[in-house]
Amino acid sequence: MPSTKTRVAIVGAGMAGLVMARHVTSKLNTYSLTVFEQTGQIGGTWVYTDETHLDKHGLLVHSSMYKNLRTNIPKELMQIPDFPFEDQDGPSFIHHSAIRLYILKYADHFNLYPYIKLNTLVKYVEPEVLANGQTLWSLTYVDLKTQVEITKTYDAMVLCNGHYTVGDVPHIPGIESFHGDCIHSHQYRLPEIYTGKKVCILGGSWSGIDIALEVAQYADKVYLSHNLPEPINLSKFANIEQRSGVAFIQGDLFTFLDDSFTKVDSFIYCTGYKFTYPFMSAKVDMRTDDNHVEPIYKYLVHMDYTNLFLMGLPALVIPFPMFHLEAQYILGVLEGRIQLPSSQQMREKYESEKKSLIDQGIPIRHIYKLKDRQWAYYDEIAAAVNVPTFPPLVRKINDHVTKMRDTNITEYKSYKYRIIDSETFSVSCYKPC
Ligand SMILES: Cc1cc2nc3c(=O)[nH]c(=O)nc-3n(C[C@H](O)[C@H](O)[C@H](O)COP(=O)(O)OP(=O)(O)OC[C@H]3O[C@@H](n4cnc5c(N)ncnc54)[C@H](O)[C@@H]3O)c2cc1C
Repeated sequence: MPSTKTRVAIVGAGMAGLVMARHVTSKLNTYSLTVFEQTGQIGGTWVYTDETHLDKHGLLVHSSMYKNLRTNIPKELMQIPDFPFEDQDGPSFIHHSAIRLYILKYADHFNLYPYIKLNTLVKYVEPEVLANGQTLWSLTYVDLKTQVEITKTYDAMVLCNGHYTVGDVPHIPGIESFHGDCIHSHQYRLPEIYTGKKVCILGGSWSGIDIALEVAQYADKVYLSHNLPEPINLSKFANIEQRSGVAFIQGDLFTFLDDSFTKVDSFIYCTGYKFTYPFMSAKVDMRTDDNHVEPIYKYLVHMDYTNLFLMGLPALVIPFPMFHLEAQYILGVLEGRIQLPSSQQMREKYESEKKSLIDQGIPIRHIYKLKDRQWAYYDEIAAAVNVPTFPPLVRKINDHVTKMRDTNITEYKSYKYRIIDSETFSVSCYKPC
């Protein structure tokens, strides 16, 4: 007998996929579920590996974690409302291995393992539009251990394949003439290999700064090259020099946009990542240029296929609890509790929001960086599905973290946050600040 349940497929068992799975499996009378994960482990980018290029199946290594990485958001904010960290003491900005442990416990607590197919690559996803206008999804996956390929049909697709794997590498004139070692931050693991070297790090965002601070402990010199309007306060690090963007390269000679130049041994691009959906049929309009995915409504729902969802698109947000809201919104859409506007109306609404942001001076490639816009986003999707939004205390703590990070990027991870009650938090120094 055909199943009367809604068949949901989730691509990826990182935190977004797991949070979605947790909500789907809370309604097993309504849904059946399969989560596809290409690697042998759950946790996505939080699964550290020494490998930097291809994995044992010949696929691009997924994780971008580096060995010493500590979170850039305190665990008191990262925790999901219905699954707090067990250890409410100790430091707030914790090592990546502690986050991975949290993810494993989450999957265990909500009994998600039975729904996850590990070592299973989603190869191809295609819409099938039925005569009644309904769209089903034909998904082809390959068992990477046996190489057996199978195609199955689903009623809803949730893409949680992450977007921190394929580096966005700008072309710099003359880069072909550089014979020193050259990587993207995706391949960065350890600072020790830069001992005694002159290292140019391109990009002044969080990863560029974080990696510069690590590398500077070993390198002879770090040139942090960026086009930020103001220099970053890195005065404690005598061997970090800030330069403008790299204009061109001649062998080991790097010339910057301000016409200064220097010799460089090693080069690290910290220039961000690209959105990629290599498994998606060309029938589905998915434009991913300029660090942006279109046509997606509320950063979540495909405007032409309202049973195709993309989780985790926004950046400069608090991802784990955001996934918690996004997953509930998706179920709201699938269950008809949220009535989406027509495809045409979604496009008009989106285009007018986009225009308004561009008019405010926000280029398209930064539209997904929500930052101060994140609170309205959480409130909006929570209200649509009638669930609690982020409590005001989260914003208060986040404002404190942002202030500390902006004031002193080298020290902000020394602070320890404690939630006292629904309105109050305390902050102290975990180690001398
Ligand atoms: C270096 C770094 C530091 C970060 N630091 C923080 C931090 O401090 N705090 C914070 O909250 N966030 C941080 N983040 C953001 C982090 O990405 C999110 O917190 C979150 O883990 C993203 O989860 P995800 O499930 O969307 O993606 P991912 O964790 O990337 O998971 C995607 C999963 O999909 C699988 N997959 C991909 N394609 C396929 C396919 N075709 N078939 C089957 N499976 C597939 C992958 O193998 C992977 O397991 C950081 C990210 C990076 C890269």
